[in-house]
Amino acid sequence: MARRIRVGTSWKMNKTRAEAAAWCDALLAAPRIDGVDLFVMPPFTALALVADRLRPAGVAVGAQDVHWEDAGAWTGAISALQAKDCGATMAEIGHSERRRWFGETDETVAAKTAAALRHGLTPLVCVGETAAERDAGAADAVLDRQARAALAAGPAGVALAYEPVWAIGVGAASADPAYARARIAELRETAARVGAAAPVLYGGSVDEATCAAFIADAGADGVFVGRAALDARRFHEIARLCAAAAAV
Ligand code: PEP
Repeated sequence: MARRIRVGTSWKMNKTRAEAAAWCDALLAAPRIDGVDLFVMPPFTALALVADRLRPAGVAVGAQDVHWEDAGAWTGAISALQAKDCGATMAEIGHSERRRWFGETDETVAAKTAAALRHGLTPLVCVGETAAERDAGAADAVLDRQARAALAAGPAGVALAYEPVWAIGVGAASADPAYARARIAELRETAARVGAAAPVLYGGSVDEATCAAFIADAGADGVFVGRAALDARRFHEIARLCAAAAAV
């Protein structure tokens, strides 16, 4: 039987509400794909709009971050409670851009993961080593530390995205599937050691040319796509290719 996989995207700080609506309409006009759970992480400004349009079609919608508190004097922050109120069922937590630019730490990732779980949101926790950590042979130790911190918040219900920092963004190339396979296997072992069975997705420069290998060769439970999915037709094509790879 074909594995059921997940294909999702974060739009990061992209798209006005009109652009978000057009993206949703394009996805909804495309043929349905069996065997894939789709999810989209729009910016907060489009969260309710995207949830209203996509959730009836079975596409999950998530926030790109949530605060660890439910309410209070935290200017600029959005809580898991508020994200859920806008229709989110998932929360992306600990993306390397947030770790790098917004001071995210393993401790805040753990607290945010706990907040997401408290409100019934599926946390998708991003973990990944930098190029320097990879070159120092420390990738698995970094992944183990980051994953343990997230899984300590609750061994059930957490999903992990393995996103090597050096593979993300313009000018980067995706990881070699064999390299990703080894890291994903290590993450599964870390999860097993704490009694968790977290699905592990791969993210980092995934596109139409590379996506199938992360399902077929790297053994990922799905892919998390950035810039290649800003066009809904490309997102759909990536999902179609991943489903085909999982069906083999
Ligand atoms: C990401 O940052 O999570 C990501 C996968 O981005 P990109 O695909 O653009 O490298």
